[in-house]
Amino acid sequence: MENIFPVYDQLISREEKENFLNQKASVFWLTGLSGSGKTTIAKQVERILFNKGFFVQLIDGDNVRSGLCSNLSFTIEDRKENIRRIAELTALSLRQGIICINTFVSPTRDIRQMAHDIIGAEDFNEIYINTPLEECEKRDVKGLYQKARAGEIKGFTGIDSPFEMPLDPALTISTSQSIQESAIQLVDFVLTKVQPT
Ligand code: ADP
Repeated sequence: MENIFPVYDQLISREEKENFLNQKASVFWLTGLSGSGKTTIAKQVERILFNKGFFVQLIDGDNVRSGLCSNLSFTIEDRKENIRRIAELTALSLRQGIICINTFVSPTRDIRQMAHDIIGAEDFNEIYINTPLEECEKRDVKGLYQKARAGEIKGFTGIDSPFEMPLDPALTISTSQSIQESAIQLVDFVLTKVQPT
């Protein structure tokens, strides 16, 4: 196959960097409704892994919306562009040997498939944070569901914009369990992928 990234041949390889970091790089892509617990669980997982000596990057929807993707709205096209940029950024981090945890609603199968294709099947682990809409709406951490129900926010996922649940996620986390239990479940899964050989 034609090498479309010739400059990479001149750089320190991913493998060397993974050896330096004493880990295998991989991507854990958390998808789920707003308020499902993606960020809460991911933050705990980042801390646990870091304390175990792993080098981890956590990218969250809210961070990129205020910076890299601040010019994008929440139309399906812009959501797709948002995820395209994040997936490309993540692919670059992966080459640096970094374990990447991404927390994005990424509502449609099409959007997640694009992320999967950019990152590559080998490295892409789809993690479904499966919290029912009613529960997310009850939590309404940021007051967004109330606004969406009142029509103050248009195109809100789960209300007037679709969320397509993953058909074959690598892992499903049910938030009927505690935050701590969910974090441990995810850490255990991550460890099966990132331990150096
Ligand atoms: P998301 O990143 O998916 O939008 P957040 O992590 O920002 O969701 O918000 C989830 C909220 O739900 C937090 O305030 C968290 O404390 C709360 N919560 C309550 N129970 C759970 C649970 N079992 N798992 C995850 N989050 C929970």
